[in-house]
Amino acid sequence: MSQVFSAVEKVSVHGGHSGQFCHHASDSLEEVIRAYVAEGFSWVGITEHMAPLSDALRYPDEVEDDLGADYLLDRFRTYFSECRSLKQKYAGKIEIYTAFETETYEGSSAYVHKLVEELKPDYLVGSVHHVNGFCIDYDQANFDAAVKASGSLEQLYRDYFDAQFEMLQELEPSVVGHFDLIRKFDPDYLNTLGKAGVWERVERNLDFVSECGLILDFNLRGFDKATEQYPSMPVLEAALELDIDVVPGDDSHGVNSVGRNYERGIEILSDLGANLDWPRPALIIYN
Ligand SMILES: [Zn+2]
Ligand SMILES: [Zn+2]
Repeated sequence: MSQVFSAVEKVSVHGGHSGQFCHHASDSLEEVIRAYVAEGFSWVGITEHMAPLSDALRYPDEVEDDLGADYLLDRFRTYFSECRSLKQKYAGKIEIYTAFETETYEGSSAYVHKLVEELKPDYLVGSVHHVNGFCIDYDQANFDAAVKASGSLEQLYRDYFDAQFEMLQELEPSVVGHFDLIRKFDPDYLNTLGKAGVWERVERNLDFVSECGLILDFNLRGFDKATEQYPSMPVLEAALELDIDVVPGDDSHGVNSVGRNYERGIEILSDLGANLDWPRPALIIYN
């Protein structure tokens, strides 16, 4: 273990998806939290995916297994009570935030506001997993369909960053999830990110993140599929130039992915001279 790494506090601003509350994750939430404790994390934001707005907006695996939006909403409510009771149970061992990760599609902002009102999360991770009705995070076939719907790969990127910008303005989430997730199924993403009309949108969105003091999720899941973290290096460098806070999120989806790629990520941030004294997400204030 490198010297830099052992001195840095272990945290995750985005993670803790569990098989108990997410159909594409594994293990119970308590098992996941115990893994964070075992790995020596000092604080963790548990940020389960929000329930879908309707049956039509479910993830493909939820459709396949016939999990209705009503059932998913019930399960999402149960997630909050379970996470809060585990927060108490493990107090003193680890500090837990009960948060959630948003979806972004037609009608999602109003629905997020409604869920926030009812369930009072500590904070939000603002994410975009859908563009023009297609999930761009799921598999190649869905991604290809999204490209087709947008008309071109570049246009899909533009549409993604426009959807993200709208979401950022409407929700001002404390944490921006995997900023350039759109590149997940694009092997030539460095080229695509640099295209006219794409990079300008990246810069516009980063300016907003900077002005509002939002945290960028330094998403370690990126190493699994896309060779590097989200946001990718050019975006990360631009963010650091704007003094945007970047905080690790392991985006864990079960015990096995708790804290994975952590050391690799810290070394990258350390080499770039980023602040490794992690700020915490701003908590939503309720009256
Ligand atoms: Zn997930
Ligand atoms: Zn996500």
